[in-house]
Amino acid sequence: MPKTNWSKYDKMNARELKRFNKFIKEEGEHRLWTGACIKAGYGVFKFRKHMVLTHTLALVHKEGKPDDLKMECAHSCRFKNCISCISWKTHSQNQGEDRLRDGTDQYGEKNSQSKLTNEKVLSIRAEYSTDNFTQKELGLKYGASQQEISNIVNRKTWTHI
Ligand SMILES: [Zn+2]
Repeated sequence: MPKTNWSKYDKMNARELKRFNKFIKEEGEHRLWTGACIKAGYGVFKFRKHMVLTHTLALVHKEGKPDDLKMECAHSCRFKNCISCISWKTHSQNQGEDRLRDGTDQYGEKNSQSKLTNEKVLSIRAEYSTDNFTQKELGLKYGASQQEISNIVNRKTWTHI
């Protein structure tokens, strides 16, 4: 998450809140944003000429801005577009809890869907760098798609090794 530009956030007035609430769908304890979202899955809303993140706006509206402006609006549920299960957390609290909740690092080998291991990923990068193999060939060899190999060699995934 980029640093929050707090000047864009404020409590909503009644008219703004009404416009905001039109995009909310209640689902049990969750209040899900059904409007526009950014790629990462967070909702966005045009608020006083700026695009703002809906969960952060909702929390500022509910609790005011945090005392420590380095705090982040953190989710306690798995819905990134949820504007209900949120609280102010420090960056490290936020990172740590995300990992716990999502079953550790989603890009790493502990992800149950991943057939790859740290060792294999390092081999893939090493072999690719020799120019003797295409991404497709490496994919066949390691049981991964060409896209996965591309992400690995371009360091879009498995960035921790
Ligand atoms: Zn929720």
